[in-house]
Parts: sequence; structure tokens; C-alpha cells
Amino acid sequence: MPVAQEPIASGSPLTVLTEDEQLLRDSVLEFADRRVRPLVRDMDEHAKMPRDLIDDLFGLGVMGIEIPESYGGAGARFFHSVLAVEALSQVDPSVGLLVDVQNTLVTNALLRWGSDDIKQRHLPAMATKTVGAYALSESGAGSDAFAMTTRATAGDGGFVLNGRKLWITNANEADLFIVFATINPEAGYRGITAFLVERGAPGFTVGKKEDKLGIRASSTCELLFEECFVGAASVLGEVGKGYKVAIETLNEGRIGIGAQMIGLTQGALGHAVAYTKERKQFGKAIADFQAVQFQLAQAAAELEAARLLVYNAARLRDAGRPFLKEAAICKLYSSQIAEHVTSLAVQLYGGYGYVKDYPVEKLYRDAKIGQIYEGTSNMQLQTIAKLLMG
Ligand SMILES: Cc1cc2nc3c(=O)[nH]c(=O)nc-3n(C[C@H](O)[C@H](O)[C@H](O)COP(=O)(O)OP(=O)(O)OC[C@H]3O[C@@H](n4cnc5c(N)ncnc54)[C@H](O)[C@@H]3O)c2cc1C
Repeated sequence: MPVAQEPIASGSPLTVLTEDEQLLRDSVLEFADRRVRPLVRDMDEHAKMPRDLIDDLFGLGVMGIEIPESYGGAGARFFHSVLAVEALSQVDPSVGLLVDVQNTLVTNALLRWGSDDIKQRHLPAMATKTVGAYALSESGAGSDAFAMTTRATAGDGGFVLNGRKLWITNANEADLFIVFATINPEAGYRGITAFLVERGAPGFTVGKKEDKLGIRASSTCELLFEECFVGAASVLGEVGKGYKVAIETLNEGRIGIGAQMIGLTQGALGHAVAYTKERKQFGKAIADFQAVQFQLAQAAAELEAARLLVYNAARLRDAGRPFLKEAAICKLYSSQIAEHVTSLAVQLYGGYGYVKDYPVEKLYRDAKIGQIYEGTSNMQLQTIAKLLMG
């Protein structure tokens, strides 16, 4: 699905979409409704995403949104990725996350930091069939990610990796992994280097898959490296500059998480409005009670505010303007309102909200992760506070 580059006119309302943005959003919403919705319950229950669904996401063109057309991608912008993640997350935030990690973390890093050789080797496959994963966290290195202990030792023609990564999204489906390791623990963050590791590389294994509260169809696994050789040509960016790759991609990635959160909030609010109009108590629809209407109106106000924050951060990024504070605020706020609005949706469904036959209990479970990954809420507050204090 090639999308033409179209600059945003200064002063345009944030939520007014250009023709190509509208086209992308409509086609992804249609896909989410037709192709994803029937699978949601089963994917959640079995904690599995079918490969043919992933193939169809490639077919739709949303797995290589920013990859230039010359490499087989859609040649679109970051904002298009945000729209795709939001639209998919309305129906299933796990599918939204698969697409988010693929675009806002993995291909984003390859496009910015990859050598010509790396781009030639990996981008065509990333646009058509290869799922990517981004491996920074470890059991002892989460918020303090640069305290990682996975070690890269320089050897003949490359590096040998030893260590373990934890919590790696898409690990079950991925064929290409961006792996961060230190070449010198004493050098602190200056030792960190990003490597590209392919599934099947000797010494590399995808380990235990986590059994999670929410986003259950998204795989989250441990990665194990035992004397795993990576050629020098698979260093992403410069040796010792992996911290820059990590920081800069995560700054952008958290806008994608904001998109996931507003998508799932929209989904929950839509369900709540429809249900309250149908459900009758005391002889009328519960939506006729002003107390219920006001709760829904409050949720709509929160969602609108969060969407403006997410769109603004994404449009700033595409315009090449600073967006660090805006990205942190959009992730912080959208994940807070996602928890609130999904909880309200469960509340307004009453007992029916608490069971799996209705869609809102899943969205409630899915929402919690927004406050944890790609920097917990405290880490976002730390970023905002640092900028505030100067
Ligand atoms: C489902 C899932 C998917 C994930 N996907 C990926 C992935 O694809 N790639 C990847 O690399 N990682 C991934 N992660 C890891 C995720 O980014 C980390 O879990 C997250 O950064 C938090 O790290 P932690 O779990 O070690 O918590 P900790 O860092 O131990 O934090 C625990 C608590 O302490 C608080 N805290 C810590 N330090 C401070 C401080 N200085 N000030 C105030 N409060 C503090 C935190 O806010 C948090 O509430 C994923 C995690 C999950 C659960």
C-alpha cells in the first residue's frame, strides 16, 4: 500500500487527516474489523497469534510503513504508523503492538542507524515477511536498562554474545532481533552496542514465553545467548554507541505505545456507549441516566485529550522538531486514561463486564501494560520533571 509523502501544513488541526492518512486509517480499521475481530477471543485464550494473520498484516502494508518504496515498503511517515497502531488496537491491542514494535522500534532503528549493507540485507524482508523484535531489557536491568550484563566480546571478524534478555515482544514470531549488549561493563552506557541477530544463529535461543495478564496474543519471551557469534557487519550504528540507538528509538516508540493506548480506549468507549444504549434497567436504557452519560462524557474528554497529545508528538517527530517531553507526556497520560476508561467500561457493563463473553474485561487487562513497558510511568515523570526543572 504505497502512500505518498505529503507535508502537513502549519496550523492544520491535529486530528484533520490528509487524504493518504485517511485512506490508511480506513483500510486498517476495515481490516481490524473483518480480519482481526473474529480471532480476538481465541488469540487471548490461547495466547497465540496465527501466522496467517501476520502474513495478512504484511499484505496490508502495515509491517513496513516507513520503509522506502525502493525496499518494498509503503514509503510513508511515522504518523501513519501511529494511525495503524491506533486502528488495530481498537480491536486488539496485541495486534497493535506487533505492528508497533515492527515499525516504531525495529525498522525505525534500521532506517536511522543501519549501514547501506544492513538496509539492503534486511529492509526488503522486513517489509514483506520478517517480523522484528527489540531486545534491551534483562532480569536485572529494566528501568535502569543500561545496567545490562549481556556481554559482547570482540573476536575474529565480529563479536561473541553471552547473556540473557527478558520480556522481548514478538520474540516467538520474529526472525530478526536488535540485541543490545555491552562490550565493556566498566564503561557504563558507553560500552553498549546494538547488534542484529537472526533467528537460527548458532548459540541463540528463544526461551520461555511469559503467561501474561493482558496483551496475551503478543508473545513475550526470554532470549538466551551462549557463545553466539555476530559478524562485524551486523553492528547497528557504531560500537559503543548503542545507548543512542536505544534512547532515540524508545523516545519514538513510546509515541507508538500512546497510539496503542488511545486505540484500546476508543475500543472500550465504543463498547460502553453501545451497551449502555441497549441495556435496560428501571424500565429504560441505562444510557438515559445522566449519571451514566456524564461518566461516558468524561471518558470521551480524556480520550480526546490523549489523542491530541499522541498526534502532536507524532507530528512533531515527523516535522523534525523536538518531541521528547511530548512523547513522555503522551505515553504517561494515554496509559492512565486507558486504565480509567477500560475500568469504567467494565463498570458500565455491570456483571457482564466481568466475564469473558463480553469484550471489555480483555481491554481492561490489556490496558495495564501501557504504564509498564517502554519506560514505566515513573520513568516518563522523571523525563518530564528533568525538562521542567531545566
Ligand atoms: C509484556 C511486556 C513486553 C515487553 N516488551 C519488551 C521488549 O520488546 N523489549 C524490551 O527490551 N523490553 C520489553 N519489556 C520490558 C519493559 O520495558 C520493562 O519491564 C520496564 O522497562 C520496567 O522494567 P522492570 O520490569 O525491570 O521494572 P523495574 O525497573 O524494576 O521497576 C519496578 C518499579 O519501580 C519503579 N522504579 C524503578 N526505578 C525508579 C526510579 N528511579 N524512580 C522511581 N521509580 C522507579 C518503576 O516505575 C516500577 O514501578 C516488556 C515488558 C513486558 C511486561
